[in-house]
Amino acid sequence: MTRFPSPNPPSGPPRAAVFLDRDDTLIENSTLPPDAFPKTRGDLYDPAHVRPLHGAVEACRGLAEAGFVLIMITNQGCVARGNATLDQVRATNARTAELFAASTGEPLFAGIYAAPHHPEAVLDEWRADHHWRKPNPGMLLAACDEHTLDPLKSWLVGDAERDRDAGIAAGLHPARCLRIGPDERFPTLADAARHILAEGVPSVPPPSAQIRAIDATTVTLRAPEGTPLADEHVRSTVESAARAIAERTGVALLAIHTDEASVTATLATHRLAATAFMAELRRATNAWHAGRGNTRPLWPRIASDD
Ligand SMILES: [Mg+2]
Repeated sequence: MTRFPSPNPPSGPPRAAVFLDRDDTLIENSTLPPDAFPKTRGDLYDPAHVRPLHGAVEACRGLAEAGFVLIMITNQGCVARGNATLDQVRATNARTAELFAASTGEPLFAGIYAAPHHPEAVLDEWRADHHWRKPNPGMLLAACDEHTLDPLKSWLVGDAERDRDAGIAAGLHPARCLRIGPDERFPTLADAARHILAEGVPSVPPPSAQIRAIDATTVTLRAPEGTPLADEHVRSTVESAARAIAERTGVALLAIHTDEASVTATLATHRLAATAFMAELRRATNAWHAGRGNTRPLWPRIASDD
């Protein structure tokens, strides 16, 4: 595993990120000439061959300027295959970061994560289906912890199905995990970035003053004893998930309160729709919780009151 630069977690509420695969998403790989791969085609570990894909730097600048935290996540099985050293991977990633600079010259990536493992590694030390290796979610989860990121507000862009799978396993909404390629809905990173910027991050729900009190329903999810809701980050993620679901479904979330045992939401809708809303909140946050390696669900049942 490599990290670059060293994480320095900021304080404040979790932020929205865009997780970006490296090869054939940010920089060329399959289109490079054969001499870029002296050992195994696809194993790129020479900084001299790093070439940003057309429009990729501008796409990343646009995302960063909109307030997204950019995180690079890359499988580098070339180390496990014995083709490259960790230092060569670091140097290649550093060259990528150098070429993806903001117009001010500042780095665009808040973090760079690389997984050097492979289940069929030549080298014993890297032979593993490690939780960092995509489609496993470990790199994204580490970034969420180390950079105070909210998976439910975040996006992922990659050219392989394992990229999307890693994002979904980390708790990102499947519709926010974008696969790019010639036959995909978004052929390039620039196309994906335009979509992300058009969708943006979840906005604040409408003010309660606009909603008639008669329409309001209050529903509660109760957690079991010993719940991780004691963790402020978990409570914040649950609240962000509720706001994201409200944004997606068009249900007005009038109020939300979490404590160490439950979450209570007041919604401007009837009871049946409010119960469905909480069922979706339960599903989404249980998936996020499971993606962090927890075997017990966050919410075992639904209870409601008026
Ligand atoms: Mg790729």
